[in-house]
Amino acid sequence: MADLERMYINGEWVHADAGATFDVKNPADGSIVAKVANGAGPEIQRAVTAAHAAFREWSVLAPKDRGSLLLKVQELMQERRDELARLVTLENGKPFEEAKKEVQFALGYFGWFAEEARRMSGEWIPSPQPSKRYWVLRQPIGPVAAVTPWNFPATMVTRKIAPALAAGCTVVLKPASATPLTALAIARITEVAGLPKGVFNVLTTNRSRLVGAELLTHPLIRKIGFTGSTDVGKGIMETAAKQVTRLSFELGGNAPFIVFDDADFQAALEGAVAMKFLRVGGQSCICANRIYVQRGIAERFIPAFVEAVAKLKVAPGFEPGAQIGPLINEETRAKVHSLVEDAVKHGAKLVSGGRYLTDGAYAKGFFYAPAVLTGVSDDMAIAQEEIFGPAAPLLVFDTEEEVVQRANATKFGLAAYFYTRDLARLVRVAEQLEYGLVGANDATGYTHEIPFGGFKESGLGREGGHEGIAEYTEVKSVVVNLG
Ligand code: NAP
Ligand code: MG
Repeated sequence: MADLERMYINGEWVHADAGATFDVKNPADGSIVAKVANGAGPEIQRAVTAAHAAFREWSVLAPKDRGSLLLKVQELMQERRDELARLVTLENGKPFEEAKKEVQFALGYFGWFAEEARRMSGEWIPSPQPSKRYWVLRQPIGPVAAVTPWNFPATMVTRKIAPALAAGCTVVLKPASATPLTALAIARITEVAGLPKGVFNVLTTNRSRLVGAELLTHPLIRKIGFTGSTDVGKGIMETAAKQVTRLSFELGGNAPFIVFDDADFQAALEGAVAMKFLRVGGQSCICANRIYVQRGIAERFIPAFVEAVAKLKVAPGFEPGAQIGPLINEETRAKVHSLVEDAVKHGAKLVSGGRYLTDGAYAKGFFYAPAVLTGVSDDMAIAQEEIFGPAAPLLVFDTEEEVVQRANATKFGLAAYFYTRDLARLVRVAEQLEYGLVGANDATGYTHEIPFGGFKESGLGREGGHEGIAEYTEVKSVVVNLG
């Protein structure tokens, strides 16, 4: 595995100048997992210079050869899957079984984009003039700065670097300060796979403002790939405006989960529980944020949901059978709890959980009893804001038209889910929801093969699918005058 105390810049494992470090903590018990190099100005400069220098050769390598290297990375990640998953659980807290699934999914982006690299074809356009020829091609955009969050320490990294590298770009990655270890381990794998030096660099730091000021505005950086909160994204957009740096954003969400009277009851119930609680304990941008139940089914659905939630096992990630781990830090736990308290204050009823877990194995971690709230209304903060944790607000609706309107009444537009057995309704609702990802009788999220991204304030651009690699290219039109 990587030397977790050093950054990976220009093919070398380096300390920060003056040996500065920051602590990475296990959210399940507060213990220090590693001390990681705390990069600053000089390392930012070095990493960008390395990415810039490596771009020339990497960008002209045959796409098939770039793809072969990426397939090697995929293979090594597969071999080390459990080792990587262990790091994910250590630094992020999610259950080990879930971490294994995450790494398994994350490595698949290398496979998908290794293949996509070979299909980045252009066009030959029929000319309106006999003496001219036109062709259109895609070229790698240049050195990329990637900034990723802590909730999927492996997937958020590979979903950006795999398409960027496949397209022929070089990358400086700044992983979340809470979860840099998985990123460093992936860097080590790219080194073993034989990626040329400088092609992929990992800059670890907890000075994110400095990153905003010096990495993201660096004149040699041609593209920013950012996943994180909408507020930070807006700030980055403002600073990027100075150089019109290209942007891809995956930002916050406020996913509605709609259960119609005619739904497959069991499928909807299981889908709702899974999409609310079983993705990093609710700390995922596509997690159900508002669960709308049609009145005719509400009396049956709500108690069944409460019963299912009561059975979920909250435990440290390495404990067998754990389904919900700790929240990432106290700030996140306090935010979830304050949304629950606010809802109760405004008339909602807390029917299950909704309190800190502090005894025994929970004592030193950020554990929270999964909350279920009934009688929630759209104007409550818990229905308006991204909860990002294990709290489920249940809302009741009467008609299809009403629920579509309520589901769309948000500045976010990342993911939405609904369950119905009426085919015409399925098509109507899928078309009307203003969201980038719509699960129709499905709550499993996305795959490598489809584009993923948000409408409105949930993002810009798409990751995955054919679109994922296009984001890291510029389009060039060549006009040839035959004379
Ligand atoms: P965040 O605070 O926005 O941080 C995301 C990343 O940006 C981290 O690496 C962070 O560094 C860095 N950062 C923070 N402030 C910065 C600044 N001023 N300039 C440059 N970089 C800065 O988000 P988070 O709390 O880690 O993650 C939760 C959010 O991410 C949620 O809103 C969630 O919806 C969103 N998210 C979206 C998707 C998606 O695909 N749409 C996926 C996952 C998460 P530090 O770690 O050092 O703070
Ligand atoms: Mg943050």
